[in-house]
Amino acid sequence: MHEMTLAELARDLADRRFSSEELTRHCLARIERFAGALNCFISVVPQEALAAARAADQRIARGEAGPLTGIPIAHKDIFCTDGIRTTCGSRILDNFIAPYDATVVARLKDAGTVLIGKTNMDEFAMGSSNESSYYGPVKNPWHPAKVPGGSSGGSAAAVAARLVPAATGTDTGGSIRQPAALTGLMGFKPTYGRVSRYGMIAFASSLDQAGALTRSAEDAALMLGAMAGFDPRDSTSAREPVPDYRAALGSGIAGRKIGVPREFFDPGLDNDNAACVQAALNVLEKLGAEVVELRLPHLHLSVPTYYVVAPAECSSNLSRFDGVRFGHRAKDPRNLLDMYKRTRGEGFGAEVKRRIMTGTYVLSTGYYDAYYLQAQKVRQLIAQDFAAAFEKVDVLMGPTTPTPAFDIGAKTGDPVTMYLNDIYTIGAPLAGLPAVSVPCGEVTGLPVGLQIIGRHFAEADLLNFAHVYQRETDWHTHAPAGYVEAAA
Ligand code: GLN
Repeated sequence: MHEMTLAELARDLADRRFSSEELTRHCLARIERFAGALNCFISVVPQEALAAARAADQRIARGEAGPLTGIPIAHKDIFCTDGIRTTCGSRILDNFIAPYDATVVARLKDAGTVLIGKTNMDEFAMGSSNESSYYGPVKNPWHPAKVPGGSSGGSAAAVAARLVPAATGTDTGGSIRQPAALTGLMGFKPTYGRVSRYGMIAFASSLDQAGALTRSAEDAALMLGAMAGFDPRDSTSAREPVPDYRAALGSGIAGRKIGVPREFFDPGLDNDNAACVQAALNVLEKLGAEVVELRLPHLHLSVPTYYVVAPAECSSNLSRFDGVRFGHRAKDPRNLLDMYKRTRGEGFGAEVKRRIMTGTYVLSTGYYDAYYLQAQKVRQLIAQDFAAAFEKVDVLMGPTTPTPAFDIGAKTGDPVTMYLNDIYTIGAPLAGLPAVSVPCGEVTGLPVGLQIIGRHFAEADLLNFAHVYQRETDWHTHAPAGYVEAAA
């Protein structure tokens, strides 16, 4: 069963070839067997999952099932789940149990999915390799010494190892697409505002967006269909209607224009990785698409811009973790200030502290104009570059990451080297654009991703490009060795 995609499982559940309870037990057995070594789950909830699976089976029997009814999924541990611990990968929330569900969680629950557990992640989603989690690094199922990418690395490892057919993720500067690329998955970050942020613990509110890690574009369409839509509880949620994403799959791409920004092929890009992206472009060209080279002149400024804007917003968002309202509180404080200081000192890890300090600095009087305001202006220029490109082409394509998965520990000593890993993924969220990563090859046995960026709310078009590509190629069907062959 674990070899099947979400769409195939949904079909067989509807045909009653197996029950949701059987499928859920199968996933739980695989989690029991593999998740420990991968360190991809922070919490697993077998009792709740089996109860939800039995309820889904009844719903299927009553003929009231939707396409996701009875499908086991995992949520990144950034989404609040009523009654189930939500840690955000941080010691400060190690004991936090939310009293409500995030909108994403509630919607996927309404669709009949079975929540099986919460996945490991970089602390507060800050990271590119899933090494900043309080719960330890996640391992890449393709190679245990390699990172799975971050910050949604637990979700990526769980789906890549075929422990669950799909998982949620969040992307602020690449955290869905990057782990998807490094673990051979489809990673989908919708337009800013497409999916509600209510109950999704905030990192950088003007950039954060929820999405999914799946194995195919069709599966991503199914997940997005359930997650997307206006939410009055999120003031930046879009009122745009939600189309039937799956129905939009399969249209031809003849005559469609693909822009390839020259900035995506900079000297930092691994040659073999570049060759895989080029081969993918050739496939799409054969299907009739036209490939056009173009420029995004300010894209090279996206890393410094993001690493001012995101820390600024996080320093403000994370001020709510003060030991009074949520989670960890330092023992025996001498006074209020001592409680604040020690709670935050003990509760946050090094990367989070670094971001809070940088963010506080760039927002302080005297530096605000020089850094924060300047970054906002450059952000505008980057967004304008994308807008100009989309006057000429339908989508933009390039690599998702500069290299395949790197060794655990290789970049933790130098934050700037780590930040540079986000060079190709940060542009889209700065401009609020939707983007996906699709597996497009393997380099030294490790997967690499093709990134596709689209116009605002052109999710259906992006999914279609990915789907058409997946019909022609089989990279997305490759599984890491040792996970598909195994019986349980
Ligand atoms: N790697 C980026 C960062 O560390 C992006 C993380 C994300 O998208 N959540 O901030």
